[in-house]
Amino acid sequence: MDATPPPQPTPTQPTLTPAERAAVLAELLPSLRAQQGQTLVIKYGGNAMTEPALQLAFAQDVVLLQLLGMRPVVVHGGGPQIENLLQRLGKQGRFVQGMRVTDAETMQVVEWVLAGQVQQEIVGLINQAGGRALGLTGRDGGLIRAQALRLPDATDPSRWHDIGQVGDIVAVDPALLHTVQAQGYIPVVSPIGYGAGNERFNINADVVAARLATSLQADKLLMLTNIPGVLDRQGQLLARLSMAQIEALMADGTISGGMIPKIAGALEAAQSGVKAVHIIDGRVPHAMLLEALGQHACGTTICVA
Ligand code: ADP
Ligand code: MG
Repeated sequence: MDATPPPQPTPTQPTLTPAERAAVLAELLPSLRAQQGQTLVIKYGGNAMTEPALQLAFAQDVVLLQLLGMRPVVVHGGGPQIENLLQRLGKQGRFVQGMRVTDAETMQVVEWVLAGQVQQEIVGLINQAGGRALGLTGRDGGLIRAQALRLPDATDPSRWHDIGQVGDIVAVDPALLHTVQAQGYIPVVSPIGYGAGNERFNINADVVAARLATSLQADKLLMLTNIPGVLDRQGQLLARLSMAQIEALMADGTISGGMIPKIAGALEAAQSGVKAVHIIDGRVPHAMLLEALGQHACGTTICVA
């Protein structure tokens, strides 16, 4: 038997004196008390998911939030990883309005990459950071029921795009999430749903995160991405966005590609009772931790009056 102990996360260099550390913790007491038992749905995507240093920092932050009394649920994407394997297999990925066109072969690749590779990497990192992660897809426990998405053309809504096995969520049954959270596990959800005929559906991860946040009536939805937040036409960060502003940015094409489902999901969650919705820059170390602790650091906050 190999008696080597499991690898431990490398401790970060202390940057505060013991007194400063005590002061920071004491200062956090009121907000931590207010946040006990809060549910946070975290969409993990972009660079934070591909750079090793950011990956470990993310996993450590998730574990820390749970230790501080919150209930994190992680939903991950995997666009770059799917693209990578498709390329190795000599298949060209294609997108329509930010959605990946998913034929049967692509769906197989999506499932291998999301559920087989990416999800298990995140589970491993959270476990390594001292948490207990549990990997699930939307098929497990009947979590996410879906049907084929009918995608109307953005400019001519009388035309429809056939994008294959891309799923539109029909229903979410969060029972399994409640069960595993109650036992102290951190759910890590891959954005795959099941159909009435046992079909598999590839669902945009932002849409899954938003719908899970709504279904769980989460206190916060945090969407990590590879850009500072939602940008205006001049490339300037929009720190706060109202529904009217979002509609205008969608209509004039300032919001495009992967930002379309992200912002649509964010808006839907904010309108459906999720109290705080933020799109944040996953390239900034600990951006998620700061935002989760209510220290607005970077990114875009969705506001519904
Ligand atoms: P992920 O889902 O991993 O966060 P996506 O590529 O799906 O990444 O979505 C983020 C991308 O959306 C950005 O990298 C950017 O290229 C694109 N995008 C389109 N319009 C905007 C906008 N107005 N502001 C910011 N990003 C935008
Ligand atoms: Mg995306």
